[in-house]
Amino acid sequence: SAVKDRWTVHRTLRTQRPSLVSQLHDCIDGVLEALLISGHFTSADCDEVCLPIRTPSQKIFAIYNDNILVYLINIFFTEILQYQKKLSSSVSAHHMSLDDIYTEGQLELGQDCPDVHRTLGLEDIVSMAGTVNAEADTVLVSGEAGCGKSTLLQRLHLLWARGTALQDFLLLFPFSCRRLSSEHRELSVQELLFQHGCWPNREQGEIFQFILDHPHLILFTFDGLDELKQSFSDEQRLCCPTQPAPVHILLFNIIQGALMKGVRKVITSRPEAVGPVLKKHLSKEVLLKGFSPSGVKCFIRKHHSDPTVAAKVLESLQSNNTLLGLCHSPVLCWIVSCCHKELLNCGEGSPQTITDVYLMILEHFLQHQRSLESVGRTGWPQDYLETVLHLGQLAFEGIVTTCYIFSGTDLETCAVTEKDICLGFLIQSKDMSSTNMMRYEFLHVTMQCFFAALFIVLSNNMDRSTIPKLFELKDMRKTDHSISCFTACLPFTYQPECAFDGEARAAATKNLQITATFVSGLLSLRHQNLWLHCCPRAVRARKVRQVERCLSKGMQKHFKSIPQPVEGEKKSMHAMPAFVWLIKCIYEMQESRIAKDAMSKLEVDHLKLTYCNIGPMECTALAYVLQHLKSPIGLQLDNNSIGDVGVEQLLPCMHVCNSLYLRNNNITDEGLRKLIATGIQCDSFQKIALFNNKLTDACTQHFAHLLKNKQDFLSLRLGNNNITAEGAMQLAEGLRANNSLRFLGLWGNNIGDAGAEALAWALEGSESLVWLSLVGNGIGTAGACALANFIKNCASLEELWLTENNINRTGVECLIQALEHNIHVKSIWYQISHTFFVVGVQDWWLSV
Ligand code: ADP
Repeated sequence: SAVKDRWTVHRTLRTQRPSLVSQLHDCIDGVLEALLISGHFTSADCDEVCLPIRTPSQKIFAIYNDNILVYLINIFFTEILQYQKKLSSSVSAHHMSLDDIYTEGQLELGQDCPDVHRTLGLEDIVSMAGTVNAEADTVLVSGEAGCGKSTLLQRLHLLWARGTALQDFLLLFPFSCRRLSSEHRELSVQELLFQHGCWPNREQGEIFQFILDHPHLILFTFDGLDELKQSFSDEQRLCCPTQPAPVHILLFNIIQGALMKGVRKVITSRPEAVGPVLKKHLSKEVLLKGFSPSGVKCFIRKHHSDPTVAAKVLESLQSNNTLLGLCHSPVLCWIVSCCHKELLNCGEGSPQTITDVYLMILEHFLQHQRSLESVGRTGWPQDYLETVLHLGQLAFEGIVTTCYIFSGTDLETCAVTEKDICLGFLIQSKDMSSTNMMRYEFLHVTMQCFFAALFIVLSNNMDRSTIPKLFELKDMRKTDHSISCFTACLPFTYQPECAFDGEARAAATKNLQITATFVSGLLSLRHQNLWLHCCPRAVRARKVRQVERCLSKGMQKHFKSIPQPVEGEKKSMHAMPAFVWLIKCIYEMQESRIAKDAMSKLEVDHLKLTYCNIGPMECTALAYVLQHLKSPIGLQLDNNSIGDVGVEQLLPCMHVCNSLYLRNNNITDEGLRKLIATGIQCDSFQKIALFNNKLTDACTQHFAHLLKNKQDFLSLRLGNNNITAEGAMQLAEGLRANNSLRFLGLWGNNIGDAGAEALAWALEGSESLVWLSLVGNGIGTAGACALANFIKNCASLEELWLTENNINRTGVECLIQALEHNIHVKSIWYQISHTFFVVGVQDWWLSV
């Protein structure tokens, strides 16, 4: 309780800090005099407070220096100011502060949690909401490169520093795994905190003891676990906070709680680097899924202080759906917004691919440089070819050796000059460690991949095996160390035994995939004129052929893995994430010939792409390629992040989908409206599954329209949405006019008695419906009796699901009576409401 009291004092002092400081600012001398007279302070104390190095604010806090917490606040205060500076400089690439541009990304729980229905906010990351393992102290925020993980952490740090969030934590230590990776000494936890965290080198012993005594008041954040060179492992245990160990071992012990148990930890990572061993030690996983459509608008408006510019950018995005889909990724949204002038000038040729977007920012930065130089130049990119090659080599060798921070020596090795740095693609790495060496990193890891790709495409002395190795995702490190061994990454590059595996390898592979995607885009026919004066035509043509061959081979490898179907079953392919990557590479090439060729060899009835991290961007690529399928398939995209924007991207391939499975994909009525408008015109489209999306009554009129106009539609599954009686009534209008639907699933909505009555009316006399699920819909006896009437008059129904409703004995008797008139029904599943006198399984399952 003593800690709690102090904590309350601390909180009060922190929240009232601004008024406290402003009130005391002008009367420090008076206060000191009063303290001296009252005997609280000696004259030595007063001298100490008035040390010339102190600012007035520091003097104020020094007056309260009789209590460790107040002392900490003093340091915090200085620290916060420094930290704010650090943050604003870390976003200096935008020439804007985080405050001005921060836009909420979409957060979702990694595991289904029935208790959490609302959308998650930043504070939920450390709250108990959605906790699956209460023993663990570590929360994981996972998401793809560029989805905003680092920015989210920076936002959390800033809010905490200002006293507006996370106020249950007295201290927050931010770490970057990228920077920790270049620490090659063995450290103890204490050294880790005071050499890599954000903390002044004073009173470490006391503060560290405080942390050990009050772990629950402390928060650590570790950004970018995927950038460690080692996969997470819980094998090597440490328990002594003063025992030195390699940094990754320290980190793993902190994450699993062997060290610093009780301290809250938030780690961020790309999904590939998260394996089952790590998952075991997580209290929960939160998925960061980029911007929502309104998030994109909000970001653009924040990014442009001039509302007319913002409106123009938004207008141009609205007219280019594909680009709008790309903007779902914050890093792409940022680039597009930065390049608004280029965007507004490019008319019809506005960007379609990720490579287009990165080329736009390359041009943007180079043109900016050119305007500064004002020397007569011929054009981009040839004027800057050398610069691009220098940066490209640095990026490429970094990707190959998993190095993301570069020392001055690394830059020299690749002939990167001061002028090259000035272009803005490299930024200074804020290294907290004791070495004061200048280090650099690319603006973003995807930018490093882009430069690596430029190097592969534009360098004339590139090893011929580079492109095949890249596409086969092979280790491209040279064994003889004849290429530069980056000093920032030492000793890793010198030690073959450090060869990474498992999740660390998977994360590094992802960067090779992104690089290969850019290589495909840069070598596409539509960009060939750009490189006319940069590399010999023949060399370029060879590289194009190599990429095409790699893509074709890669696809075939996937197709070969398709097992022969069991007799009577459909031939089905469960695609791996690498399949989606190849599809994205094909899309970047923008040549329908290549897409056609790839699809000509795919012979399946069903393509399963569940849990493949498919967002709007991937949908664009999928639709581009799948539209060339020879015959229609079932496309199963359950459990991805498609959303309304992704649905719109899928429309071009609707005509080759006989069934579309989109369970759990954040789709709303608006996305659905567009989907149906296209689907209704597609002859083969017959089944749709939309379980667990965000549909409401506003979507049912579209389904009604579909059912009325498509007399060969077979299956409609709308479980776990928000459809009420009103929606059911609208649906009933469509059902009444349809005589093809065989499966209707409405489990987990709320249609109630009125809805059930409407459906019963509509389906009465149906000759097609075989299966109906109305589980968990708040249906009572009236609804059951209406359904009984439908059963009496329906010659096709075989199975009816009515569990988890409120049907009483009377209702059940009605249903039983109806069965006496019906010889087709095989089973009706029901529960008598709130009663436990159900005897045996047979009472649940009534069979005739
Ligand atoms: P990640 O860590 O997931 O790779 P970052 O946080 O580095 O992604 O984001 C890349 C860029 O995208 C940032 O530099 C910033 O420009 C932009 N960005 C990301 N998230 C946000 C956000 N929430 N609000 C505004 N801009 C963002």
